[in-house]
Amino acid sequence: MEVFETIAGMRNARKRLSEPVGFVPTMGYLHEGHLALVRKARSDNNAVVVSIFVNPTQFDPSEDFQTYPRDIQRDLSLLEREGVDIAFTPSVEEMYPERFDTYIHVGGVTRRLEGASRPGHFTGVATVVAKLFGIVKPNRAYFGRKDAQQLVVIGKMVADLNMDVEIVSVPTVREPDGLAMSSRNVYLNSREREAARVLWKALQGAKRLWAQGERRTARLREEMIQCIEEEPLATIDYVSVADPITLDELHQCRGPALASLAVRIGKTRLIDNLLLE
Ligand code: AMP
Repeated sequence: MEVFETIAGMRNARKRLSEPVGFVPTMGYLHEGHLALVRKARSDNNAVVVSIFVNPTQFDPSEDFQTYPRDIQRDLSLLEREGVDIAFTPSVEEMYPERFDTYIHVGGVTRRLEGASRPGHFTGVATVVAKLFGIVKPNRAYFGRKDAQQLVVIGKMVADLNMDVEIVSVPTVREPDGLAMSSRNVYLNSREREAARVLWKALQGAKRLWAQGERRTARLREEMIQCIEEEPLATIDYVSVADPITLDELHQCRGPALASLAVRIGKTRLIDNLLLE
């Protein structure tokens, strides 16, 4: 595996890769969720590029950019083991030189859910992903369904800006008790880790009602809210049942619906979602 910290090095190496090239953008501190994306990219393509970059523009000043977990050496050895061709690990200065001043703003779908709770977040995400696409020039790029809204936003950007890359989504990888794997799970102490099960439990509650034929979204939301409120360490940021494409909040479901939630366990903000269909 080759490792490049500069855009020039990455671009040069890209010329030698045999296509199709699969690309997995990450912020590192890799876990089995990331590795599922890497394995899918490996099996679909002739070459695989993974980026590790904690992107400051997608963090609000009050958020955890400085303390976001990092372990580049461990990440690189995991990627090496997965047969990745290139790891791209640029610095903040390399990606955002002093006079950097261009941002990608995706409309409507970024105003809801994560976008409403984290203003500017998706502008940071869209901008860095567009930059990475411009540098890596992948044929396919892989994103996890754990970040369902991110997938919608990237899909919209690629369609609206005619970017020549196929977006592939990969199912959420979970711990045995259902908690979605996340780099931020390391923030949880053992009591909080127990409490974090409530996200999956709430989504399963909504799924159970859905399977019984419940289509009134107020009932589905109420079920999830009740479940979370029973956990003393949990505070709800949002609980949503929305259209999976527009992310508009639904009153009554005719087709599939995306149940999603953001919950604080102590100081740690966790998200999860489940497609009801
Ligand atoms: P991150 O490093 O958190 O920016 O995530 C990089 C990519 O991995 C994103 O496309 C995420 O959606 C995906 N990802 C993160 N956690 C999981 C998971 N538990 N299962 C599947 N994909 C995931």
